[in-house]
Amino acid sequence: MVKSSKKRLVIIDDDANLRDELSAFFAASYQVATYPGTPATLKALRDAPPDALLIDLDLQGIKGFDVLRLMQSTPELRPTPVVVLSASNDFETFEQAHRLGIADFVAKPFRVETLGEKLALALDKRHRRVSGRLKLGALLVQSGLVSQAQLDEALEHQQREGGRLGENLVKSGRVSEEDLSAALAGQMHIKVVDLRVTTPVAAAVGLLPRDFIVRHRVLPIRIHDDGAIELAMTNPLDIVAIDEVRLRTKRRVIPVIVTESAFDEAITIFTSKRGKLRELDDESGQVVRAEEIASAQDASTIEIVDSVISDAVGMKASDIHIEPREDVLQIRCRIDGVLHDLREYPLELQPGVLSRLKIMGSMDIAERRLPQDGRISFMTADDEPVDLRVASIPSLYGENITIRILEVSPLPPTLSSLGLSPESLERYEGAIKRPDGGIVICGPTGCGKSTTLYTTLELIKSKERKIYTVEDPIERKLAGIVQTETRPIIGLTFAQALRALVRADPDVIMVGEIRDLETAKMAADAAITGHLVFTTMHTQDASSGVYRLIEMGLPAYLVAAAFRCVVAQRLLRRLCRHCRKQETMTEAKWRELGWGDPPAKKINVWTPVGCPKCFGTGYYGRLGLYEVMTIDDDMRNMISAAANVNELRLAARARNVESIRDDGLRKVLDGSTSYLELLRVTT
Ligand SMILES: [Zn+2]
Repeated sequence: MVKSSKKRLVIIDDDANLRDELSAFFAASYQVATYPGTPATLKALRDAPPDALLIDLDLQGIKGFDVLRLMQSTPELRPTPVVVLSASNDFETFEQAHRLGIADFVAKPFRVETLGEKLALALDKRHRRVSGRLKLGALLVQSGLVSQAQLDEALEHQQREGGRLGENLVKSGRVSEEDLSAALAGQMHIKVVDLRVTTPVAAAVGLLPRDFIVRHRVLPIRIHDDGAIELAMTNPLDIVAIDEVRLRTKRRVIPVIVTESAFDEAITIFTSKRGKLRELDDESGQVVRAEEIASAQDASTIEIVDSVISDAVGMKASDIHIEPREDVLQIRCRIDGVLHDLREYPLELQPGVLSRLKIMGSMDIAERRLPQDGRISFMTADDEPVDLRVASIPSLYGENITIRILEVSPLPPTLSSLGLSPESLERYEGAIKRPDGGIVICGPTGCGKSTTLYTTLELIKSKERKIYTVEDPIERKLAGIVQTETRPIIGLTFAQALRALVRADPDVIMVGEIRDLETAKMAADAAITGHLVFTTMHTQDASSGVYRLIEMGLPAYLVAAAFRCVVAQRLLRRLCRHCRKQETMTEAKWRELGWGDPPAKKINVWTPVGCPKCFGTGYYGRLGLYEVMTIDDDMRNMISAAANVNELRLAARARNVESIRDDGLRKVLDGSTSYLELLRVTT
């Protein structure tokens, strides 16, 4: 009998029908031996190593992976190419099988011809397994996207010129980026995700430090209900990166493939303002617990704190909230006035993170029962210093820390870019061009009063004018202006500071806020004695601002004489222009919202959607709503004669002073913002 020249193929499958079918098909080209997959199968393999192995992972008697492990650990069996059949069409099974050095993976249901081709390829020397590493080239040939010849050519080119194989293939025009992703995804049993359409969820992105994201080119985009993270990768073959992510996050990783260019775009958005911490001087003589210092100085704690601040600054957040909860350390940040989840960390990290922030803020890390505050200097990548104010407050689960990020973004270049309508702008400019008189900006906390004031001061400052401010706190440093911060603890109140600076020969004074009669009186006196005075108050509209001053006890005639312009302001989020969507609102709905007569039968409004450019929020940047009321002689008489707030309001409307709501409705109709946003800030 002549010994068969056919290669020996072992098929392991416990499904007798499938075994027979495969055996019949492969008998033409191979010398086939089949096993049902029992412990005896392992012995048979060891005794007579085959030329190739085809194994169904879904076995009853033994574990398919145990066979793969045996193949891997037995020197005589290691070179045998293994093709795996599996009903589990998921990445994890695929990945685990590849880690055990398989040549190929075929998911059920399958065409037996496909299996035949893959087996032939596997026996081809060039496709021999390289233990635990996935080969892009082999996968691409298997997918049919490129031929073996084309791959060889590309590999040769790579040897000569360097570069990444996938990149070279795309550059050569051989394949498109999208085809490359699709082919890899198909071969690896993973999803393709279009990062231009799918917005990464901030809580997911926050699971990894930014440096890591950039270095490994991976971006967590979503957290599944079971805690697994969906990881966008340009190269899902990078098992090392997957391992690192798994290790760092202690979560299951579900890779998805994204194109290089979409990834670059997403990363540019997320890394627009990369920052690093300015080195802090050692606070000598501070009594702190050694292990807390050690924990706070631990490289990973430093990296976490650094990346949290960097990310928040990059996302143009105004505040960071570090909140210990019962089971997790929650980190949220306020962007455009609204809180968003940024990250979650295991509670073990809490002491280190809190201590690190307190050390940076020169606070007492041993004091946990009393509120404290401090300051941190932070350096952006463009070497622009950002000032942070840190405040700690004891809470049920430990200290809560909030970090206020003092403005770093440039001021709006003009008043009109704040959102003032041409009519309002004209009135306001008329008031600020005068050398004297009081100007009051009214509105709740966080309505953008300071931005309006800072922008105004920048516009009116000149060498010939001495400008002073008294603020609590100084939110932004302005060049060429003398800024003072109140310090009630040592008795430096608004009134105290104001008293000092009216004697310091000012031209323009900005008083952060009028809270008491003494301050109100001094501000009014300064305004009628040839100074331009700016200030703010907490009232809903312009007319009630005037009356608040009278209620405080300032004589009505003085209010009438001193104040020339009262502005009420709100801040709302501007719709993201890249993703906002048009919608029709019914007349009935318009009325229901309490907005009176609708402007048309069919009212077109815009609603937020969310895209990568706006971090999925649907909004990007902010927009002011303004009521700008200048006080003319008739109104002055009304105020002196003790007219009530409604009469003043009516007088303003009669002079075409737009109310906050009317200004808002105009901005809803032109698509600058959504009606939901208007409701949020005006109700
Ligand atoms: Zn958007």
